[in-house]
Amino acid sequence: MLKLGCHVGMSGKEMMLGSVKDAIRFGANTFMLYTGAPQNTKRKDLSELRIEEAKVLMDEHGIEEFVVHAPYIINLANCVKSETFEIAVEFLELEIARTQAMGSETLVLHPGSHVGEGVEAGVEQIARGINAVLTKDSKVNIALETMAGKGSEIGCTFEELAMIYDKVIYNDKLRICFDTCHTSDAGYDIIHDFDGVIEHFDKVIGKEQIAVFHMNDSKNSPGARKDRHENFGFGQIGFDALMYIMNHPDFMHIPKILESPYIKDPDNTKKSYEPFKHEIAMIRAGVFDPNMPEEILRESTK
Ligand code: FE
Ligand code: FE
Ligand code: ZN
Repeated sequence: MLKLGCHVGMSGKEMMLGSVKDAIRFGANTFMLYTGAPQNTKRKDLSELRIEEAKVLMDEHGIEEFVVHAPYIINLANCVKSETFEIAVEFLELEIARTQAMGSETLVLHPGSHVGEGVEAGVEQIARGINAVLTKDSKVNIALETMAGKGSEIGCTFEELAMIYDKVIYNDKLRICFDTCHTSDAGYDIIHDFDGVIEHFDKVIGKEQIAVFHMNDSKNSPGARKDRHENFGFGQIGFDALMYIMNHPDFMHIPKILESPYIKDPDNTKKSYEPFKHEIAMIRAGVFDPNMPEEILRESTK
């Protein structure tokens, strides 16, 4: 069975227990959570996360594996302001501890943006940050995400990610999060030649390094470097190409995570609805449903 899920929040009184409840409600058998708002670093104490109850519920529903995503605000590559770098390292350390305490082995991290200093300097700084937090006994792996290449993002080529591997001391604790929207936006032809892309990836990094997929469609055509996700099958990558990756025999056991946009209510700009229950059902059925957004809106306004 596919290991298929989506990103879920962790907030309110239920915290991680609520994340697991959401995943189950969506029909997911894996998930990715943010330990708080993805845009900031305010986090609750470990004792308030309701980890034990969450683990019991996961067990009851056969959810064996999940991943954690570090907030976007962490930018290790920022070498202009040293305070930013220090804050990022400190936060990353705590995030690793939280990931381990919650029972996940994988922390997804955006490598960062070099904000004008250049790729080499950015990579140097990213490796310095990772080297400050990974030890030989670390139980959590850091999965560097493949990026779309908007602005000065590092990690939009496999070679840039390999440069980070080369500079990290305990690089046996690095992994890759392969985001389909990002790799397509970065110019890799995953639509017509996913096998060719993976062959290249395998030479540069090693395909066994992929620990998680972000299964996103893209609003933009390949090479656009924009990073705007679209609902599964509704974008420029399309249902068939995404399903080919979803069912690829080399990655059957790898968790596949949806980070789809919410469906906006055309009559009320303040309202939008999560698409995950429908998307997961559609993917499991293996048949594209062009009416999905309308169905979601119809059900939500009932
Ligand atoms: Fe990400
Ligand atoms: Fe992603
Ligand atoms: Zn993205």
